[in-house]
Amino acid sequence: MQTIITESVTVAATWINRGEVVAFPTETVYGLGADITNETAIENIFAAKGRPLDNPLIIHIHSPGQIQDVASEIPETANTFIRQFFPGPLTLILNRKETISPLVTAGLPTVGIRCPNHPVAREFLKRCNHPVAAPSANISGRPSATDWKAVHDDLKEKIRCVLKGPQSALGLESTIVDCSETPPRLLRSGAISLETLRKFVPETRPPVDTEKHVRPKSPGLKYPHYSPSALVKLCGPGYSVCEGEAGSAWIGLSSPPGKIAKTCLCKDMEEYAFRLFSFFRECDREHIKTIFCEMPPAEGIGIAIRDRLKKAAEE
Ligand code: AMP
Ligand code: MG
Repeated sequence: MQTIITESVTVAATWINRGEVVAFPTETVYGLGADITNETAIENIFAAKGRPLDNPLIIHIHSPGQIQDVASEIPETANTFIRQFFPGPLTLILNRKETISPLVTAGLPTVGIRCPNHPVAREFLKRCNHPVAAPSANISGRPSATDWKAVHDDLKEKIRCVLKGPQSALGLESTIVDCSETPPRLLRSGAISLETLRKFVPETRPPVDTEKHVRPKSPGLKYPHYSPSALVKLCGPGYSVCEGEAGSAWIGLSSPPGKIAKTCLCKDMEEYAFRLFSFFRECDREHIKTIFCEMPPAEGIGIAIRDRLKKAAEE
């Protein structure tokens, strides 16, 4: 299949409305979308990514008003988060409407919903006839795609269209909060931290340690993720000491100790999040063997960066 690259939201939405799979930019990472009412199109997302069918997709909407079309009830805690963070990098888990295909939700009684805060994404979603189900636009297990070239590298000839936009400003996937439970529970860290969520809903609970659960509440959490081909080694207090070697790279907030072939020095944690996945992909293109990653402080977006780094370091 020929993959069309376009900057036109109208062209991209027309492909969605015809039942095709389209990648589109958002402020977190690029999404790989299909019409939620078209089961063949949804199946094609899983096929293109090589994504396990038990890993549900997030439904993307252009405005909070569309939540009623996909959720059966909106608890007060969810309304508080919606008022505060929609549009934005937050996915809410709510009980789903009966009409939502079990392919989208992987058979769960709940659905993940997000309203991106990205002008191109919202204009594109407005032109789609229905909400759009979309996981990250990468081959399963690889680092998420934060620019259109990364999408194209992974998925060219497997999807119909890539809507070209700027590099994703945040660079990490959305924070996921489960509001189908009372009190709500954080399932995945992102740019919005637990501390920030608690300013608005103080009883929000931290994530459950997924190791102890056979079937985690967010099924995606049990799969390997974010992995470049290079070996990822974590550095910093409590982790390994970085021993520079030929063909190795470094990403962090401080300068690398020892000899390193390639360095990504970030001025703050926002820049670290923004550059992390694109740096992983750059290292792969340059056949780097080991990427040393400095663990950032466990605060704010640093918690989400640490989470992604730990998953990327798993063999
Ligand atoms: P991705 O956008 O590729 O990060 O994938 C979507 C993430 O949302 C995965 O980790 C899913 O497990 C999670 N997710 C989507 N829908 C639900 C749901 N109904 N309940 C819990 N987690 C969900
Ligand atoms: Mg993903």
